Amino acid sequence: MKWNYEKLLKECTAYNNFLRDYNNNNLSQCYLLIGEDGFLRNKILQAMLKILFCTSSDKPCNKCLECTKIENNNNLDVMYFGTETSFNKDDANRLREECCIRPLTGDLKVLIVPNADKMEELTQNKLLKTLEELPSSVMVILSVSAEVEVLPTIRSRMRKLYVNNIDKELREILKDNPLREEILLCSNGHIEEVERLSKDTKFVNYYDFALSLLNDFPSSRELGGKGKFFVQNKNDIEQILKILMYVIYDNMKNNKTTYPTVALPNCIRAVGKGLVSLSKYANTNAVIDGILLTILEEKSKCK
Ligand SMILES: [Zn+2]
Repeated sequence: MKWNYEKLLKECTAYNNFLRDYNNNNLSQCYLLIGEDGFLRNKILQAMLKILFCTSSDKPCNKCLECTKIENNNNLDVMYFGTETSFNKDDANRLREECCIRPLTGDLKVLIVPNADKMEELTQNKLLKTLEELPSSVMVILSVSAEVEVLPTIRSRMRKLYVNNIDKELREILKDNPLREEILLCSNGHIEEVERLSKDTKFVNYYDFALSLLNDFPSSRELGGKGKFFVQNKNDIEQILKILMYVIYDNMKNNKTTYPTVALPNCIRAVGKGLVSLSKYANTNAVIDGILLTILEEKSKCK
């Protein structure tokens, strides 16, 4: 079953506010789309573009040629600047140059910085100049995970669209799933992750295993057994550790296990460090042993 994102988007204030601007003929030329969930932000961005270019009367129809073009990233008057991790001086220059070129097909051109989080101050000042002299045929959209990443001088020129939390809607979608709360916890409410975990048949095993590390891991004699679980699921080690991280967080807040709460912060640090080491191709067994030992030692310190 594929998730119906269109329905979910309709619950998002960012989407609704933009649609209202459009319907009221009150669009801004500069939008700042703010939200921690990058996937959801991209979905909203796509919906905004469809609203702008859709040729149907009921926008966005998701069916017309223009909507399809947006869906396939095929509209020549929509341009993206920067990469997933950066937006540098050259990108800012390119964006500025594009402002001077007329739209190719209609009367609107949309220039987008999909990850405006990592702009240096110098680059931001360059961008600010561009925003100050924007031709009427151009709309600029900056998409960021957090508002503070953008200079106040830029922020003040932009109309803000906040991507709200849609936990309530996700809860509704998962209402028949016995693992609903566990999925919401381990996905941090991120929609793409919620969808993935709700289809992942191994998730329940990983979650139970993470709980067992806190509840049922009495001594170093069990070290081999717990380590074996990781070996048996060696392709999913990163995922298991992430789930463990969320389970530990949850326990810090809600005391769900017998594990001493004061020792949990050190466990989180150990798992976090382990994840970083794994991303640098460290020896997997050594990383796992290190984490398991920390969980044991921190617990025994509290006895
Ligand atoms: Zn359409």
